[in-house]
Amino acid sequence: MTDFDRNYSMTIDGKSVSAKGQIDVINPATGEVFAQAPDCSREQLDDAVASARLAFKAWKLRPIEERADLLAKAGDVILQHSAELARLFTKEQGRPTEGAAAEIMMSGQWLKMVSQMRPPVHISEDSDAQFIETRYVPLGVVCAIAPWNFPVNLAIWKVAPALLAGNTMVLKPSPFTPLCTLKIGELLQDILPPGVLSVISGGDELGPWMTSHPGFAKISFTGSTETGKKVMESAARDLKALTLELGGNDAAIVLPDVDVDEVAQKIFFGAFANTSQICVATKRLYVHESVYDALRDRLVAIAKATKVGDGSEQGTVLGPIQNKRQFDRVMNLLDDARANNLTLIEGADIPHTKGYFVPVTIVDNPPEVSRVVQEEAFGPVLPMLKYSDIDDVIDRANDSEYGLAGAVWSKNTDEAMRIARKMETGTVWINQNLNLRPDTPFGGHKASGFGVENGMEGLLEFMAPQAVYVAKV
Ligand code: NAD
Repeated sequence: MTDFDRNYSMTIDGKSVSAKGQIDVINPATGEVFAQAPDCSREQLDDAVASARLAFKAWKLRPIEERADLLAKAGDVILQHSAELARLFTKEQGRPTEGAAAEIMMSGQWLKMVSQMRPPVHISEDSDAQFIETRYVPLGVVCAIAPWNFPVNLAIWKVAPALLAGNTMVLKPSPFTPLCTLKIGELLQDILPPGVLSVISGGDELGPWMTSHPGFAKISFTGSTETGKKVMESAARDLKALTLELGGNDAAIVLPDVDVDEVAQKIFFGAFANTSQICVATKRLYVHESVYDALRDRLVAIAKATKVGDGSEQGTVLGPIQNKRQFDRVMNLLDDARANNLTLIEGADIPHTKGYFVPVTIVDNPPEVSRVVQEEAFGPVLPMLKYSDIDDVIDRANDSEYGLAGAVWSKNTDEAMRIARKMETGTVWINQNLNLRPDTPFGGHKASGFGVENGMEGLLEFMAPQAVYVAKV
């Protein structure tokens, strides 16, 4: 029986493994250490890679139907343990229980849905002279590195397609949120052959050790643009294949024809869900001047009525910032906004504890050049900006180093589609947001990364085409 409250160990070569060193795990709602996770040594990383390389030889040759079957079973096991995992998730990540459970359930479902995908086979010629087909083959051992904002889901986005394709993997969660991922590694020991999925945890040195390790064929990384650049440099040394899912500063454009009461709630949660720690959250809200005041007042009213607190307490809708480093970053942006006399409107009171709480804050029409507009806050601070001319606002929305996602709100879908085509982002939502699916590619343009996850394109990022020419004899 897995104990979800203690004994957090790594999974290497199908076995639970502890480490000489430990890293502290902090509950962001209290600011206190509540658990420890293993601090993987360099030798243990070598063991994980060696075991994954060995496992690859047999795993890649297993029929895809068998691999799919095991991944669907892995999904079931996560679903069976969703209540225990969700409780642990709230403690380490901070998100209230309902949202925590939603992430765990979605991760189990995701494994099951991805397990049904199959890579294509293209036949270019089948004549009396020859037969030519292009099929897709796995790459080898994948190095998977995940962030702390959606720690389980974003890890499963890598695990499911990579393993289905026939690769093996060494997965590293963020040092801020290692526990649920470690427990999932343990749960899957009974399902996956040894070495197919190793899960290791550690401090700041472990990521660079992994990206420079010569045993990996591919790196699949989700995190900040700053770290993504370092990962790319490190991967270049031995030409590892690379997928980078990086930061964003997503713009939403609200047209004058919206029904403010109808869209306000959706726009609010598109910006503030998970305390705004979502790569594709709305981070700049451009509103036509004719509806600006009405929408601002409606968003402020929702903010005042939305409880911010410890995610394990009933009624909490938004939890703390996940870690002190990010908390300090958000506070620094707010200090800068105050120093520049920007107008900040705060929502409901926050608990005055040692937890990393920041009030929901709307910044009322700041200058475009202010830091709070230009930088990804990754915290509950939303700049609302007025516009009068649609072409000008599209330019303002696109004038960003990032290009992850964007949204358009309008009753006129044709007009919204016209605007969507001009947006320089990998995803555009019209009258909705935060909707992502396993069968639809997701990725960033510009400094938001390259390569995609999800969809057939995402599956094929874990494979290489192999063309086979057969002369008929
Ligand atoms: P981060 O870049 O600090 O860390 C991400 C992961 O990289 C962690 O596991 C960390 O331990 C590891 N890491 C740190 N330095 C490393 C190095 N030099 N080499 C290898 N690995 C290293 O990011 P974060 O603060 O955990 O996550 C927040 C950021 O992630 C935000 O910018 C957000 O927009 C972005 N994000 C992007 C997506 C997406 O799909 N595009 C999804 C979620 C989050």
